[in-house]
Amino acid sequence: MNRKIIPAALAVIAAAALIFCVRAVVTKGRQTINTAEISENPQTDDTSVVTVTDVSQSLTEESSLTESATDSAVPVTMPGPASVTVSTRLDTTSSLPSTSKAPASPVTSTTAAKPSSTAAPKTTSTTAASTKATSDYPYAYAGFNPRPADLNVADWRLILVNRDYILPDGYEPPELVHSVKGDSDSKLLDSRVAPYYNEMYLAAQKDGIDLYTVSGCRSYARQKTNFENKISTYRSNGMSKVEATQKAATIILPPGTSEHNLGFAMDIGSLEQSFENSKAFEWLSKHAADYGFILRYPKNKQDITKIIYEPWHWRYVGVEHAKAIKAAGVCLEEYLGKA
Ligand code: ZN
Repeated sequence: MNRKIIPAALAVIAAAALIFCVRAVVTKGRQTINTAEISENPQTDDTSVVTVTDVSQSLTEESSLTESATDSAVPVTMPGPASVTVSTRLDTTSSLPSTSKAPASPVTSTTAAKPSSTAAPKTTSTTAASTKATSDYPYAYAGFNPRPADLNVADWRLILVNRDYILPDGYEPPELVHSVKGDSDSKLLDSRVAPYYNEMYLAAQKDGIDLYTVSGCRSYARQKTNFENKISTYRSNGMSKVEATQKAATIILPPGTSEHNLGFAMDIGSLEQSFENSKAFEWLSKHAADYGFILRYPKNKQDITKIIYEPWHWRYVGVEHAKAIKAAGVCLEEYLGKA
């Protein structure tokens, strides 16, 4: 009897031990995965888009952006392989005052193509699944839920910010410099853009035109003040909070979504639509593209830009893009395939 029972008992014990070991390994594996997901993406249950191994790569990409910004004389395009997939963590290290809780820790996944100096910019494709709208944006009550702007586009000159794409909370340009001081005041611009603006300004001056500089780079806080002042004005005229906010946003973009926050735009002349009748506007219409600037909010594109006609707002995109945009008669959203 014992000869049969003992081997049988041993077999049972061995089987139990084996099952225990297998379960332990499986459980540990699950715990490891869960820990990685939680630490990478604490704000969302949507863990499917996170790739932990991409973090070091995204840091490299961001470092490149900062380094290239220190070269103030010659704008450079982002270095990189022909086609690279990066997962970018837009951390918020802000020194600017801000009440926005917009993208607390968004993770975007971007496929960027190799920079090209001539081709039309099919540079980015951002998947909807990986770019969550920021539902806690302070102006969400009026229908504004911008997604994080993609700062890692292959060509930095084509960074798109508008009411649908917001800069990281507390964004500040890598380096700000004053534009040239001519007959009018100088204003701050991104250091990669300022040399081109200065060149344009001086060329206009040679032609007897003063490109009177009204507004360059604005901080998030300043943009917020301007935007909320506009809302207050409309509210005092009897509009509801939602109506007033929506109306204000056609004239002043909500904080974080303005090209003035990016440091790529200059308001020139006067903030009146009658500026289009000025010699300065005529000069800009003729020559601005030669220096890389576009009329960003054209009269016939308001349904796309969602911004009133602004003859004073000129945005830098680089000479070849500016010329292509002008020749095609499109706005930046159309040019980027984001209309
Ligand atoms: Zn402007």
